This record gives sequence, structure tokens and C-alpha cells, in this order.
Amino acid sequence: MIRTLAAILALSCTAFPAHAAPGDAGEAKRLLMDSVGIASVKGRGQTPALARFYRDALVQAGFNAADIQIDELASTANFHFVWRAAGKAKAKPMALTGHLDVVEANPADWERPPFTAVAENGYIFGRGVQDNKFDVAVMIATLVQLKASGFKPARDIHLFLSGDEETDGIASAVQAKQAAALGIEFMLNSDGGGGGLDAQGKPFFYKLQAAEKSYADFQLTITDPGGHSSTPTASNAIARIGLVAARIAGHRWPVQINDITRASLAEAGRQRTDALGEAVRRFAANPDDAGAVAALRANPGTIGQIATTCVPTMITGGHAPNALPQRVTLTVNCRIFPGTSIASVQAELARIAEDPSVTFATGTDWPVTPASPLRPDVTAAVQAAVSTRAPGLAATPGMDAGATDSVFWRALGIPSYGVSSLFMRQEDSFAHGLNERVPETAIAPALRHWDIILRRLAG
Ligand SMILES: [Zn+2]
Repeated sequence: MIRTLAAILALSCTAFPAHAAPGDAGEAKRLLMDSVGIASVKGRGQTPALARFYRDALVQAGFNAADIQIDELASTANFHFVWRAAGKAKAKPMALTGHLDVVEANPADWERPPFTAVAENGYIFGRGVQDNKFDVAVMIATLVQLKASGFKPARDIHLFLSGDEETDGIASAVQAKQAAALGIEFMLNSDGGGGGLDAQGKPFFYKLQAAEKSYADFQLTITDPGGHSSTPTASNAIARIGLVAARIAGHRWPVQINDITRASLAEAGRQRTDALGEAVRRFAANPDDAGAVAALRANPGTIGQIATTCVPTMITGGHAPNALPQRVTLTVNCRIFPGTSIASVQAELARIAEDPSVTFATGTDWPVTPASPLRPDVTAAVQAAVSTRAPGLAATPGMDAGATDSVFWRALGIPSYGVSSLFMRQEDSFAHGLNERVPETAIAPALRHWDIILRRLAG
């Protein structure tokens, strides 16, 4: 599968003419560093200010202020900009997305102030500098440079930035609905996918994220009249929930495969020469291969790629060391294969539990999110960008455990692709963690990445 795909992609990228590199990285760096100074953390009330900051950058570049809308929601903001097609649009609108908000950071724990960008030793440090302010700054700088170069879009290009991706996802869901009403043909999410650099700084993979699992937590409760611990009963709630937990942990969820996982597993298999690599290759070729399935199930790195998974993660219960427990609750966390509903997973858990007295609760209300079909236009554009940066490197489709804003868009039938412009070494990646940073040298190729993609898809 990947060979066919790689062959198609290789063909399309050799046909792609080289063009002048976009302008210098200074504007993107300034946008990135200044944006870190606006602490767009939930509860701090600064997310609308960040939205205005991006608006001002676009307006200064000559875009129409009337085409930029900032909606202040309960405690956050949504940003929406449209660069309209010059003349009659040749295709349906496309969208770029990212998010405004960042995860909280405690200055006492950081070596540098998290909400003041610091350039040091070739890196830019600050909360959100990777997730997701890097790509947002680069996308905006790319739009600015495209305009300055005289580029005229052949279709409407929408830029949506959500205000609560890291927390509630309410703003994200609102934007997905807006996008569906606008007839957006596909979406490119800057907050997913992306490239990896090896220890020498050489690109060695690029993931084009085209699917995500959905997420659900279930609380399974058993109640019992209880009693004195000196008079045990057969209905002990802790003993019964223990059996339920063991059954769930041991359950083999049905094997699933889609175009995305088939391609990513085939590629992963090509890169490994060990027994797991062989099993991965065999599974990608034939998901009914029982030996390959067993090997992938036994490996924590691959089990989630071939099925829904559910694991017991927390347990609470009992009220005294010398009393029979009256109530025990087991939390089960599930990562659900694309296209599968939460209700069907709950039904399966109830069946596996083999104890009709278990009651189920879930606070999770995720939509069913299908995998996005691998559109040839999108894959060719992303491959062209990746090939320019790293000749010979394939943009490999991938499925994440979740979750980005794409979940909401895919649920409404809008194909969505994580195509971040950032290539990082694993050891440099501290998104959500301490001392988040990006290498300064990442900016110029990232500008080229978005420039190539936009010229191809909207030129
Ligand atoms: Zn993010």
C-alpha cells in the first residue's frame, strides 16, 4: 500500500517545479516570540488579546479587517479569517487550523520565564512556543508573504484558531460547525502530524496525521449491602470488581485496520529489521494473520494501532478496614478506533464484565470520528513540501491516539489532516512540559512548508 502511495507521491513531486524560497524568517520569529508573551492559558482571560494580536499582523500586511472575526466565548475566544479567492473560486474553500490557547506553566518550575520568549543557544524557549504558537506564527507569516509576493488564491482560504483546544474543546466544536456550514472541502491542522529529526538533525520521518482515536472514560460501580468483616459474604464488591477488571484487561478487542494504519504500519515495518518489524509488515499485508496480530497485541507500541483498547486505570472503594465494602468504582479508559461509537464500546464492556449488577457511567461525550480519506491533492502537496525539505523522505499517513481539533471536523464529515511544519528531535520536544522550546533553524523551512502547500492547494 505504502509503495503504491509512495510511488504516486514521488511522481507528483518530481513534476513539481522549484520556486523561489519565501521571504526571511524574521517576521515569523517576531510573531512567535511576541505571541508567547500573551499568556493564553485557560482562566487568565488573555486569549482574546492573542486573537487581536494575530488580527493586527494580518491587517498590517494589507488584509481586510472585515474578513477577520474574533468571537469572545465564555472564557476564551475563536479567531476566523478568510482570504477570499481572486475572482470566481476554482474550487470549494479549504481551511487551515490551529489553536490560540496553551497549557498552564508555573514560573517557579521553569528555568526561564514561561511567558516571555527567550532566544538562547539556538532555541526559542517559552510556553506554547511549540504547541501550537510555532505553526500559527508560521502560517500567518506565510499568508503575509504570499500576499506580498502577489499570490492570488484560486479558492477561499480560511484560517480558524480555536481558543480552548487544550481544555474544553467547546470553541473547537463551534468552529467545526461553522466550517461545515461554509462548505469547507478539507482542513489542514497545524496542531498534528509533523516531522522528526535524528540525533544529527537529519529528518527521518514525517507523519501526515489523517485519523485519531476517540477517548472515553467509564466508571463501573458495584454496590453491596456490606456488613461486618468478620461475617464475609459471596457478594464482596471489591472481589467482584477485581474479576471485572481482570476480564477487561484480558479482553482482545476485534482487530481493525484502515488505509491510514495500513500505510503507517507498512512504513514502520520497512524501517525495522527485527521480529516486530516482520510482524508489522505481515499485519499490514494481511490483518487476518493470527501470528502477526498476536505479536502486535503483545507490544504496547503497536497494540493501539490495531484495535480499540480499554484499560482499568483507577479504583476506589470500601470505607473501613473492618467492614465489607458497600461501593467500589473502577475507572476504565478507552482509546476507540476511528468510526466506532462510544455506546458500542460501553455495550461491549458490559458484556465482558459478566456481572449484570455493574452500573456504567461516562462523562465523555465524544463524536464518532472516521478516518479521513487520503486525498491525492493533499497528500501530493504535503509530500512536495516534505520532499523539498528532505529529498527521499515519505510523508507517511498516521493515526494518533487523540486528540486534536480535527476530531470535531472529521465527525462532521470534513476530511482533516495534521500537517505541522515543525521537524524536531525527540529530545527537544517538551510540549505541555517544562522548558518548552523550538530550534530557531526550524522557522525558515517551516515557512517553505506552508508556502508550498498553499501554492499547490490554493494556487
Ligand atoms: Zn496543540
